[in-house]
Amino acid sequence: MVRPRHSELHRTSRIGWLRASVLGANDGIVSTASLLAGVAAASVGHAGLLQTGVAGLVAGAMSMAAGEYVSVSSQSDTERADLDRERAELATDPVHEHKELASIYVGRGLSPDLAAEVSTQLMAHDALGAHARDELGMSATVAARPVQAAAASAASFAVGAALPLSVAIVTPMGVMVPVVIGASLACLTGLGAVSARAGGAPVARATLRVALLGGLAMGLTALVGKLFGAVV
Ligand SMILES: [Zn+2]
Repeated sequence: MVRPRHSELHRTSRIGWLRASVLGANDGIVSTASLLAGVAAASVGHAGLLQTGVAGLVAGAMSMAAGEYVSVSSQSDTERADLDRERAELATDPVHEHKELASIYVGRGLSPDLAAEVSTQLMAHDALGAHARDELGMSATVAARPVQAAAASAASFAVGAALPLSVAIVTPMGVMVPVVIGASLACLTGLGAVSARAGGAPVARATLRVALLGGLAMGLTALVGKLFGAVV
């Protein structure tokens, strides 16, 4: 039987990598631009500023990757433990598990007879898969993939960080702070709009939020840099 092409655009399959990528890129832009603005405000030379920026990019990408790997690995450990427990319960008490699955389908609106029949057929086909999906809420779409998540975070952080850094390479020190902050705010706003559209969220609110918070972080760091530069 030829299955008709699925015309609706569902965004769930994008959630995993979209969330990690936008988070990483945002972080890359804000933390590197803040670093550059703060160090430039403390009157460090151009070469020293760029070295700081490159070090910030590498350090940030590594810490994002490590953090994401650890958090997604622990999620993956939890999922595996849940599946092992479910497998054991299916082996020791299949009758109870069948009742449990049927009651879930009754809760979703099926008649008790139909729910029992559906549970019988689904458990005959793939008992663990049916329980994982309908009882534990696990699906292949959002399964924990630590390496993928870590790589996506590191890469998107590095791409994000490279934006203010490349601006800093071509900008004279005299106007470094306003130019780096201005260019980074423009990048943040653009990223906010793209990710809101991709995720189906309201664009205006998303861009305003990311621009305001990013601007606040960069402005405060530049201020601290200026104060620190004046003291030292
Ligand atoms: Zn179960």
